[in-house]
Amino acid sequence: MPALPPLPRGRASVLALALLCGLAGGVVRAGEAASATGTAAASATVPATAPAKATKAEASPESPIGARVAPDPMERLRARLAQRLGAMSAPDPAHPDELRIVSRAHPSMAVEPASAAAAAAALAPASASASASASAAPAQVVRAMHPVRRRPASAAVAHAAPPAPAWDYAGPGGPDAWGRLKPEFATCASGTRQSPIDIRDGIKVELAPIRFDYQPGAFDVIDDGHTVQVNVAPGSAIEVLGRRYALVQFHFHRPAEERIDGKPFDMVVHLVHRDSEGRIAIVAVLLERGSALKVVQNVWNNLPLEQRVALAAPGMLNPNELLPTERSYYTYMGSRTTPPCTEGVLWMVMKTPVPISAEQIAVFAHLYPMNARPIQPARGRLIKESN
Ligand SMILES: [Zn+2]
Repeated sequence: MPALPPLPRGRASVLALALLCGLAGGVVRAGEAASATGTAAASATVPATAPAKATKAEASPESPIGARVAPDPMERLRARLAQRLGAMSAPDPAHPDELRIVSRAHPSMAVEPASAAAAAAALAPASASASASASAAPAQVVRAMHPVRRRPASAAVAHAAPPAPAWDYAGPGGPDAWGRLKPEFATCASGTRQSPIDIRDGIKVELAPIRFDYQPGAFDVIDDGHTVQVNVAPGSAIEVLGRRYALVQFHFHRPAEERIDGKPFDMVVHLVHRDSEGRIAIVAVLLERGSALKVVQNVWNNLPLEQRVALAAPGMLNPNELLPTERSYYTYMGSRTTPPCTEGVLWMVMKTPVPISAEQIAVFAHLYPMNARPIQPARGRLIKESN
């Protein structure tokens, strides 16, 4: 057998392996998927804290698996899979983070086209269309992910070349390197209106209140490898400066990315909105240790076991419950705080923090102990604040 190239490190490969195992058979009933949430927090962290334990098949980049001798049962399984999936293509070098599901008809993977689309959408949570279609067909998302769920990673996939480091919050793919990782991330380094910032020296003015038109609705939860994100059903929106922005998703950072007069906060939730012309408006709600926040518990209860697969929650979620009662705010123009760090984002940071319990912070910290981009230079940007 020809020597296989080194396997990529990280959880993306774990999921890829799981997906392939799924192709080889095995389904989980919807009930199992929905009821497995009780242990979600603990189980979901396994790959986060110990990727090497998640799968013995994962070799470090320094030890190509082809160098080993073959009689290991894992090698045999790998060889069989390689044979079976001979046509599988390597990851697109332009999108090494993206997982591709090679469509090979198999009884256990017999999902209708709509479900396949939902599954594909679930793998690209950052895009508005993804969240829209995932929200539109929550049940299908769950069905599409069945094959993924049952099998832990237990086989390997050959990749063409080791991918460039994925962006991260530390290490070779950390914030200092973001701008160099991909051409489309260049703004992370060259941008002049980046976020987050330390909010200070705001000009106190009569800011029109943000009109929150949030509705309870269906939602799905995705652990995208950088945060826990909730994709909400269409119907919620804000109106500000004469524009209506639809709520697309919200997600969490620990600690809070933004500071106020240098003060750090335990966590923050970013509510991401988009208007009909694609303009982004983000409302930041700072979270401070205190009493438990029911809506956050609703999200944690529905954490998916697998990364990058959206899990449709069985109940409803009311985004209003994330908002403080007192709604004065700071506003400034900035950027997305994750690659590609796109600028032109209208930021509104609520002045009043909302309490979240120590236990709830601990659940998130278990998954993501630190997922905050460092403070960016304000460069004299105008910051306005409610009187
Ligand atoms: Zn964010």
